[in-house]
Amino acid sequence: MLKNNNREKDRRELVDLLIGRGIKDEKVLSAILKVERHKFVLDAMQIHAYKDIALPIGSGQTISQPFTVAFMTEKLNVRKGMKVLEIGTGSGYQAAILMEMGAKVFSIERQHDLFNNTRALFEKNGWRVHMRCSDGTIGWDDYAPYDGIIVTAGGPSIPMSLLKQLAVGGRLVIPVGDREDQVLKIIYRATETEFDEAEVPEFKFVPLIGRNGWKKA
Ligand code: SAH
Repeated sequence: MLKNNNREKDRRELVDLLIGRGIKDEKVLSAILKVERHKFVLDAMQIHAYKDIALPIGSGQTISQPFTVAFMTEKLNVRKGMKVLEIGTGSGYQAAILMEMGAKVFSIERQHDLFNNTRALFEKNGWRVHMRCSDGTIGWDDYAPYDGIIVTAGGPSIPMSLLKQLAVGGRLVIPVGDREDQVLKIIYRATETEFDEAEVPEFKFVPLIGRNGWKKA
């Protein structure tokens, strides 16, 4: 029943909460107001869909907390028409936010069940996201370079392949740390050879599993 309700009031409250937590980018806030997060959330979690918390999405994974999505998206500096690579499609919510902001989205998920469910959700709603089921720690060379790369799972280090696939002037937003806690790194590619780096502490993501990530789930 709740799923058929558009729940705009819930989203307005969420946006107010995010503003209170420091999110300023109007484009990010208006995407959060538009994208129906409850469509990306399991039936049993519907009542929690607009709380600022991560929620289980099956296969041992989670849809990120709205604040984290908003914060990372703000750091990515999304502009219309920009090409963005996402590692960790999961529920598809982050990809939908990027798409709503006018980005051309490429998204990789390593788990088949999540990949299939989310692809079906995108198709059903007529949302165009280029998806691939593979190890995202090696990136997606065919469409590189990307103006932005966003990694929504935490790894032990920054995969070199992702740095290589980042356009000059582009940003990579990636959580790095141990399996429990991470810092969010924001890497700006200033030139072919120069990268600037900033970091924000205290984030918590599910593990990034793969050749250039953690070796075991
Ligand atoms: N952006 C997602 C967050 C999902 S959690 C959302 O909005 O819902 C992170 C996801 O990263 C999980 O689905 C996990 O399976 C996936 N993942 C972990 N390691 C990966 C890898 N090497 N390549 C692609 N996806 C990966």
